[in-house]
Amino acid sequence: MLYSLTEATMSEIKNTIGMKTVESGGLLGSAGRGIIDKYVFDPGKLESTIEFAPNVDYMQRILMRWSNQGIRFLGIIHSHIMGSALSDRDILMARRILECNEHIDYILMPVFTTIDQRITWYKVGNNCVNAIEVEMPKGK
Ligand SMILES: [Zn+2]
Repeated sequence: MLYSLTEATMSEIKNTIGMKTVESGGLLGSAGRGIIDKYVFDPGKLESTIEFAPNVDYMQRILMRWSNQGIRFLGIIHSHIMGSALSDRDILMARRILECNEHIDYILMPVFTTIDQRITWYKVGNNCVNAIEVEMPKGK
């Protein structure tokens, strides 16, 4: 599946996690056809300022709401100050989310680098981590 990111979603990402000086993140979802058009900022757990850790209760609440609205959960975007590679901890986080949501085989786990305001896309499954291409809004 080729995913594409909407311009509105890109703006929301830049206006939330793109404005933070510490690592933060948000949930990505789709109303259909691989278009990434839903985004909810997650300020993360307060005690974690070095590396982003999602607030799991908050996340499960959003996922419940999305599922009632027919919105498919796609994954989590989080920021790095610099360096676009996923850390071992990021991959563990993704796999923990897969454990909690057994109906999905993989999640998108993009990294937003604050220094250049760019997104590097990854797909994480139980046995694989792959860099993927996602169609970005024109001119971005
Ligand atoms: Zn990370």
